[in-house]
Amino acid sequence: MPQTQPAFGGMLRQLVDLGLFEFDTEPLDIVIERRLKEFWKYTTCPRCDHPSIHTWESSDRVICRNCDFKPVYTYGTPFHEKHLSCGEVLLAYLLYADTLLSISQIAVVLDRAYKTVYYTIREVEAAVTRGFPLVWEQFQHAISGPTQVDESSTVCSGYKGQDPPRNSRYRGGSSRSERSRWKGRHGDQITLIAACRDELRVIRGHRGIDFETDLAPVMQEAEDLSQPLGEVWTDGLQAYRRMEYDHRIVVHDERYVSADGVHINQVECLFSLVKPWLRKFRGLSKQGLEQAAHTFGLIRSLSLVGASLEIVVDCLATGSLLSST
Ligand SMILES: [Zn+2]
Repeated sequence: MPQTQPAFGGMLRQLVDLGLFEFDTEPLDIVIERRLKEFWKYTTCPRCDHPSIHTWESSDRVICRNCDFKPVYTYGTPFHEKHLSCGEVLLAYLLYADTLLSISQIAVVLDRAYKTVYYTIREVEAAVTRGFPLVWEQFQHAISGPTQVDESSTVCSGYKGQDPPRNSRYRGGSSRSERSRWKGRHGDQITLIAACRDELRVIRGHRGIDFETDLAPVMQEAEDLSQPLGEVWTDGLQAYRRMEYDHRIVVHDERYVSADGVHINQVECLFSLVKPWLRKFRGLSKQGLEQAAHTFGLIRSLSLVGASLEIVVDCLATGSLLSST
């Protein structure tokens, strides 16, 4: 009987089995260790809350001089107690956020169980999302000009509210049963709402295009990350007419750039990038898809300002060590 194979990654699996992807993550491990230890100096003790954490280059432990707590430097971060090295954790996240590889394919490349990779990525994603606003502040001085806001046509989340079908291949074994047993429904529709200002990209997935619940939060987020917001450019959608911002409209059916230069080309370009990227998430729930869309905006913003890998680690460290309150 023919086996059900995933649409992509079968040949990749063979390359993995041949041992082509033996990652040496040590250079990345070193970067992460150095950055996390820096962050420990500015945080308080997770046990006694005292601001007297000390670190050493030679030890993987940090120490609280007040209560003698000695956690490893990954304590409280998504790097802690993983079956992956620090470098592999970050690599998994970057392959997820910054390439067209699906999570199944990333699991194949890293030769790890899907669930290990999935939950690791989710954890890193949550921490980066929490830490991003504080780290982004240092780029804010360069963010100016009008903010373009637009909504997409609907995007399908693929499968609804259940674990995705996948080719479950764990180390040393293989099973194709889950995919063939999949009885899930094809899923929710979401609409993408995005704001672009200079290099800043904010994207959210929403049920609809109501002003209060869907459009306003995106503009609020763009304002928080680049304030003050200033002029907002949109298309002629009725819902935008309720906003308080200094607001100019390009009416799309007539032309793409209004006579006085108003346009939303940046957001349309962004949608043309994010849509094919989102298509790799056939397995994600609606919530996962919304989270992914938001992540695309953050990573795209960091790419556009030319941020280094260290900045991504800083977001992650900020989100897990400094934003715990
Ligand atoms: Zn302490």
